[in-house]
Amino acid sequence: MPDEKTFHMTPDEFRQHGHAVVDWIADYYARIESYPVLSRAEAGQIRASLPAHPPSKGESFTAILGDIEKLILPGVTHWQSPNFFAFFPANASGPAILGDLLSSGLGVQGMLWATSPACTELETHVLDWLVEMLDLPRQFLSTSSGGGVIQDTASSASLCALLAARERATNFASNKRGCDGKLVAYTSSQAHSSIEKDVQIAGLGLDNLRLIDVDENFAMRPDALARQIEQDRRARLVPCFVCATIGTTSSNAIDPLPEIGRICRENDVWFHVDAAMSGTAALCPELRHTHRGVELADSYTFNPHKWMFTNFDCNCFYVADRKALIQTLSILPEYLRNKATESGAVIDYRDWQIPLGRRFRALKLWFVIRHYGIEGLQYHVRRHVELAQQFAGRVKHDARFEVAAPAPLNLVCFRHKGGDEVNQALMDRLNRSGDLYLTHTRLNDRLTLRFCVGQTNTMEQHVERAWSRIQVEAGKLEADAHPAG
Ligand code: PLP
Repeated sequence: MPDEKTFHMTPDEFRQHGHAVVDWIADYYARIESYPVLSRAEAGQIRASLPAHPPSKGESFTAILGDIEKLILPGVTHWQSPNFFAFFPANASGPAILGDLLSSGLGVQGMLWATSPACTELETHVLDWLVEMLDLPRQFLSTSSGGGVIQDTASSASLCALLAARERATNFASNKRGCDGKLVAYTSSQAHSSIEKDVQIAGLGLDNLRLIDVDENFAMRPDALARQIEQDRRARLVPCFVCATIGTTSSNAIDPLPEIGRICRENDVWFHVDAAMSGTAALCPELRHTHRGVELADSYTFNPHKWMFTNFDCNCFYVADRKALIQTLSILPEYLRNKATESGAVIDYRDWQIPLGRRFRALKLWFVIRHYGIEGLQYHVRRHVELAQQFAGRVKHDARFEVAAPAPLNLVCFRHKGGDEVNQALMDRLNRSGDLYLTHTRLNDRLTLRFCVGQTNTMEQHVERAWSRIQVEAGKLEADAHPAG
């Protein structure tokens, strides 16, 4: 009998095209510096280059891969370029990419322990390893009262923390009846916008989010927090959640965790710590001062997909008391019932997150940790911090520029002393040149440039070249403003 007809890629074709894709990625990394870092595509340009209608007949894989080069690359901003200094990084590495490929290859959906025990157990194990690697508090270990889980993003992790806080504060009544407008959440005016979004989603209402003042270093003022909590209590509101940040997005400010944690304990308020990028710094003992006070946290989150060489998406989220989280998020319909769940001997991570389904993300994290070892990860994190500090030193020695905020790790906020227009023009010229990419923020209402060193392959030569490009473009702007003669 003839084989049944299929349109699938055969295993041999998969092997052949798979090799071609891996070759393509390796070549891409080899020539990545030849592309303008920031895509020059105009709005709509990429869509205009695509066929208006989907193909009725399948196309050759060679043609598809060819179109990556021709149609897609012009619209790609090269986040993996060593000349990428914008935002916070979303760095990647060979072992992470290969781990991700294997995760796609296995294609398991790990919503329950029973739907792929390895998916759950490797995740639990690697997250316990990370507690040790970052020297996080023991209560975050799965063998203690808490545990860790991989989420897609820090935004989702903080949402889960907020939901658990909401339920704990209402004795799990708000899950049933909804919010009554009395719960209040607190974070600093410099916290990431995801906290605002989470407060909206969790139903507390933005009016019930207090943005606490910061000090001259852009860190939350604990006295202002304590006063606000007291005021809300007097108004018969219910403080339920405080989010402190290790490494704010604007300036990498570090909130005073010990004081904030103490206030949370005194007021029986859930204490969440968002260390999205800077959590990775805790790999290095000499940088762990950034995490002082984390032992007081009810939950903690950081993104290996930012600075720990693990491609997007991979967020690690820890809770000190897993029962509160699970009771908040657990729902057990008949079709998910199984013996392992009922035995109580396994973790079902669907109860630790918003979606039901989940990918085998632990594979890429496991590959990264095993490939680099603690030593390799520490080496590169230290190097990035050193390079950023070197850059800050260069800025300080150029009288035309100033450093605009403390630079505790790998982000340097700086500005030309000529004012907002000059800084805007300087950033636009640099980014248009394609030689590097950096972004801005506003600090004390002044436009400030951010230079973040965290891309996997960024080395001294890239930082030096970036600084020299900044100086040259600044010189041109100054010459335009004050033409000779
Ligand atoms: N928190 C902080 C401090 C961040 O800097 C960021 C992103 O830059 C986030 C949260 C959001 O990260 P994600 O994209 O993982 O939600």
